Amino acid sequence: MDEEEKELTGFGDNEDILPFLNRDSVVTYSSAVDLVISTACRNNCGYCGFRRDQDNLIVPYSSIKIFKKARKMGVREANLIAGERPDSCTSVRAKFDIWGFNSYSEYLYTVAELAFLEGLLVNLNVGYLSFNELKYLREIIASVELMVETTNVEMFNGVQHKLSPSKNPEVRFKFLEYAGKLNIPTNTGMLVGIGESPEDRIQMITRVRELYDEYRSIQNFKVIPFVSDPRIAMRDFQGCSEELVLETVRIAKEILPSDVDISVPINICTNINKFVQAGVNDFGQIRTCGPDAVFPKKRFEPVEVYEKELDVIGYQLAKRLPIKNSFVSSQKYSKKLGQFLDKYKLRLKEIQAEDEFVLAM
Ligand code: SF4
Repeated sequence: MDEEEKELTGFGDNEDILPFLNRDSVVTYSSAVDLVISTACRNNCGYCGFRRDQDNLIVPYSSIKIFKKARKMGVREANLIAGERPDSCTSVRAKFDIWGFNSYSEYLYTVAELAFLEGLLVNLNVGYLSFNELKYLREIIASVELMVETTNVEMFNGVQHKLSPSKNPEVRFKFLEYAGKLNIPTNTGMLVGIGESPEDRIQMITRVRELYDEYRSIQNFKVIPFVSDPRIAMRDFQGCSEELVLETVRIAKEILPSDVDISVPINICTNINKFVQAGVNDFGQIRTCGPDAVFPKKRFEPVEVYEKELDVIGYQLAKRLPIKNSFVSSQKYSKKLGQFLDKYKLRLKEIQAEDEFVLAM
């Protein structure tokens, strides 16, 4: 890629991302910016503080400024967030019509492509999509994210999910299966402290393990604590304790293979070294530009603060792409993303060869 192309695409070189092979005493993170595509959602979960009655649908071209600024600040991931199926709202469909989009997926593709052209890789975190929608979007996204939350179906009658038909775990696992069949790197996880039992937690993680065994597509498992808020339906529930999150991380580490990274949101779980010692080996998306879209009041510290803290227990913090190194090596990405990732893959191979050479000496 010549200088002019770099300028056009914003990819530049990858010197801020050092490919690493050895994961011992290393915690990874992705430097990310959140972009809320729409706050409309067909569900209404009892713990949600994100959903709004207005759609707040973003005009695609207005996102360019955000992506440009983020890329200048060293960000590599655009985390596109939306409530589930905002296109179930007439107001959203009317906007698509005016803006010239034939479908929701066409709209998503455009926003993702704008991010990509600015040098950012997209993690698509917009809830359930059909197999054909994912197949179409696969070309332009690096990863997808969908929380299963819980496998407890009794919550359908409770405050948690009685207004959220697609929080049926079977629907969520269907999506994860689609992503697996399409070879899309997938982030998933669970919400802890919403009234589930210890057995529910084990069952949930075990199902993710089974899915991994079948498709090898799960790259990251997030353990997210329930946070109480006066504006949500579950305002009377107590926030999840640190101990419960730690315990769930330990169980996840036992059940999941080492190839699946385990994360907690470190803007909520702030005692990072405790979590690392329990089994967390990835900090997920650190918003190095702008706030966390779901918990805007829970700010992230500058990356250097985490580096210093990890140093106390002999760990290093390493920046990664939204797609894991092992997934880059096994080419779980489209030809289009290859414009960015092929070069990185080559570097990974070179490092691997150097490593093998040193070991053979
Ligand atoms: S599906 Fe997601 S965005 Fe929609 S109400 Fe539930 S938690 Fe909120």
